[in-house]
Amino acid sequence: MISKSSLLAEPASPAHICPFDQACSYLEAAAKELNLNQGLLEILSHPRKVVTVSIPVKLDDGEIQVLAGHRVQHSDVLGPYKGGIRFYPAVTLREVSALAMLMTWKCALLGIPYGGGKGGIAIDPKRYSVGELERISRRYISELIKDIGPSVDIPAPDMGTSAREMAWMMDTYSVNIGHAVPGVVTGKPLSIGGSLGREMATGRGTMIIVREALADRGKSLVGVRVAIQGFGNVGCAAAELLYEAGAKIIAVSTGAGGIFSEVGLDIPALKVYAAENRKSIVGFPQSVAISNADLLTLPCDVLIPAALENQITEENVNQVQAQIVAEAANGPVTLEANLALEARGVIVLPDILANAGGVVVSYLEWVQGLSYVFWDEERVNREMEHLMVQAYRKVIHQSEVRQISLRLAAYTLGVGRVAQALTDRGLYP
Ligand code: NAD
Repeated sequence: MISKSSLLAEPASPAHICPFDQACSYLEAAAKELNLNQGLLEILSHPRKVVTVSIPVKLDDGEIQVLAGHRVQHSDVLGPYKGGIRFYPAVTLREVSALAMLMTWKCALLGIPYGGGKGGIAIDPKRYSVGELERISRRYISELIKDIGPSVDIPAPDMGTSAREMAWMMDTYSVNIGHAVPGVVTGKPLSIGGSLGREMATGRGTMIIVREALADRGKSLVGVRVAIQGFGNVGCAAAELLYEAGAKIIAVSTGAGGIFSEVGLDIPALKVYAAENRKSIVGFPQSVAISNADLLTLPCDVLIPAALENQITEENVNQVQAQIVAEAANGPVTLEANLALEARGVIVLPDILANAGGVVVSYLEWVQGLSYVFWDEERVNREMEHLMVQAYRKVIHQSEVRQISLRLAAYTLGVGRVAQALTDRGLYP
């Protein structure tokens, strides 16, 4: 048993599932499988740096509110810290720490030269004006100015943030440094060095991994029945690309509820409908309203949770009917639910593989920025697909050789690579 970081003094989340404990459990399982020594495990189970800053912000009505902003840097053994910034009401330091750790294994699994980081502010961005969000984003980054940088820590979008926030953050960092530093964030708008293909990248990566898993079973995407929880950056892109490939998207949902269609939803039309209705999809023609809970247990071939963590739990796992669960969100299946699914032969495509497309294209954006050479979208997608398929194959191979689940296989590859690098670098002093 490893000791939980004393840096994380925050009380456990009121919900009974602590994301950081869960992340440590996966690490422990991988360490056991790899026979890692206790010292290495201790190092890997502690984030290297945990920063919480105060963000005073003047609201439009003149009132001042002080928010807490977190940035957790888990490991930079393989390269600069890399990870998104989340604006979501339920953000906690433990959650950010768990997500930073996941990023370390994800980057290592994909073979990209980054460590893991994550950031977040516990706000509901829908309750703030654009001006207020800009002031929050800028003050957050200026408070972290000494902790980030293109070779130190490179943020990216996550839940509740997008290219718009990345542009504000890049500008704030650049103004403070004294010159333009596009490489400080990824997921930027194209006008300031963003990459073609980045917006769709995470959803595209999920589509590729689902396609490969089906192909291994002699099936194609055509006609496959898919249910997707979440219709934001990731869920919407995955829906669009799967639809284009011939899959039947029978249900999607947002925080405001879901919709179902037995014959399959017209995803391009739904995208337009959501844009016109402030992201709400309920009421879309030729669909019936369903709850988020219903969506997870629909009869379908592939279930893609692409919203929040801890969505498939001990409580609902026995009702899940999909044969493949692709974790487009981070941590949507709890440890216990994962074991129950595996015991039933359900294929769980783990988050550090299934949603890695975003960080892969972030890496390609960073590479293009550093080399001042920008690629067309076809090249970006091709390079990304190559890395995703290669990682998928490695996971399958590891799972077959060691006779372990896909999740444990993915974790052993990621953790193993970081542990090897740590051993080779040695411990300072
Ligand atoms: P987003 O903010 O763009 O979209 C989130 C979606 O989830 C929205 O449609 C929202 O309505 C929905 N949602 C919120 N609460 C919900 C609830 N209770 N039930 C059902 N749906 C709910 O966020 P995103 O960038 O698409 O991220 C989604 C997930 O994917 C997160 O777990 C994130 O960490 C992960 N992820 C994102 C990226 C990326 O590139 N954006 C990369 C890797 C992983």
